[in-house]
Amino acid sequence: MNFTARVARGIKSLLVGLGVTGRHLVRPVVTLQYPHQRPDASHWGGPIELVTFPETGTHDCIACNACARICPSDCFAIEGKRPEGAKKMRATKFLIDFSTCSLCGLCVDVCPTDTLQYSRRYEDVAYRRSLTVNDLLAPFPEDPYFTGKLA
Ligand code: SF4
Ligand code: SF4
Repeated sequence: MNFTARVARGIKSLLVGLGVTGRHLVRPVVTLQYPHQRPDASHWGGPIELVTFPETGTHDCIACNACARICPSDCFAIEGKRPEGAKKMRATKFLIDFSTCSLCGLCVDVCPTDTLQYSRRYEDVAYRRSLTVNDLLAPFPEDPYFTGKLA
């Protein structure tokens, strides 16, 4: 290939590249200026959490361990106790290890009280493995079934 042909080929290549850039300049933007802009996470299936029911203001975990039994990754550590006079147990310990959770959703499907759900969180990070174990009862420091406010 002589000099002129190489120059012509270079110019053609440049124009093709500029054409691609130009087309993308006028297309709708599909990226976000994160973290200043946030995505719509309403359909995101994030780390599992306990549901807060508006009628009671708390979760409805009866410590049946169905979620723990079906979990393929052995993520759960759950304990429970029956409040005085109550018919059902209440969870007194509910730990989940997100380092092994695959977000398969089996625990959500099997829960008899529908008290497990995917959260909308998408920014969970941890620098130490021990921090991947979450206490799902932490948002519920006082259980109204144990304090007698609910029966
Ligand atoms: S989503 Fe799947 S892997 Fe994660 S805790 Fe539930 S059952 Fe276990
Ligand atoms: S299956 Fe539901 S009610 Fe049973 S221990 Fe798990 S979260 Fe609690």
